[in-house]
Amino acid sequence: MDLGIKGKWALVCAASKGLGLGCAQALAAEGANVVITARGAEALEAAAAALRLAAPGVEVRAVAGDITTPQGRAAALAACPQVDILVNNAGGPPTGDFRQWDRDTWIAAIDANMLTPIELIKATVDGMVERGYGRIVNITSGAVKAPIDVLGLSNGARSGLTGFVAGVARQPRLASANVTLNNLLPGAFETDRLTKTLVASAAAANATVDEFAQRRKAGIPSRRFGQPAEFGAVCAMLCSMHAGYLTGQNILIDGGAYPGTF
Ligand code: NAD
Repeated sequence: MDLGIKGKWALVCAASKGLGLGCAQALAAEGANVVITARGAEALEAAAAALRLAAPGVEVRAVAGDITTPQGRAAALAACPQVDILVNNAGGPPTGDFRQWDRDTWIAAIDANMLTPIELIKATVDGMVERGYGRIVNITSGAVKAPIDVLGLSNGARSGLTGFVAGVARQPRLASANVTLNNLLPGAFETDRLTKTLVASAAAANATVDEFAQRRKAGIPSRRFGQPAEFGAVCAMLCSMHAGYLTGQNILIDGGAYPGTF
């Protein structure tokens, strides 16, 4: 199926690795030009070079910077001639006990996982309306649907974003102009972030990382971790011209781990 996004411009935040990179790869493979961002220039340039090699027909621009800062967002937006597709992403907050989190810790999590996507939505959505095409995908977490106790910062900040997106997506001015906003909720995907959390959890459980990974997989009906490429494929589908009637949704990609009917 042709996704109909050839020549569109996509801004994919936090995309030198992991899920963001998976989204950028899938969008570029469908012919979208991509602007990718990350804090570290070296990994970002390597990701951009690999994208150019895999999708020679598209333009790939790399903007190093912290997307949670006004400067980082301004640089990313300036590099994108127009944002037809926005994939909001940033690093996840640390794990811990809420008794130890002070106001600054909360503000950092809210900044990264709630206010940064909201700022980028604010900066891009009206242009999308004018052009009659827009796809906004926020990478959130399965923790929005099934909270993880040690990830209280993520549960809280991302739930705030989810509530905001639910309201904005239903504004007739946006929905009737073919502008959609949806959230993608990853379960356990094989990325650096997952490796880090496995190392910490294994140490706490007095198990090896491999033992702990096997335990985690045993709790997932698919009996495996997800791959960034399959996450990216769903993102590209949501960004396609065919998905214009799909808005305001939270789509869980977790190998069946969430046990509820809905
Ligand atoms: P990752 O650590 O593999 O990759 C994160 C990417 O974001 C890297 O490219 C990094 O350079 C970039 N980045 C981080 N902070 C940034 C910032 N402030 N500005 C610009 N770039 C930044 O992580 P991932 O596994 O791909 O996760 C992506 C998001 O999804 C995170 O918010 C994570 O918490 C969330 N998530 C991941 C999983 C999982 O299993 N991997 C599950 C649930 C939620």
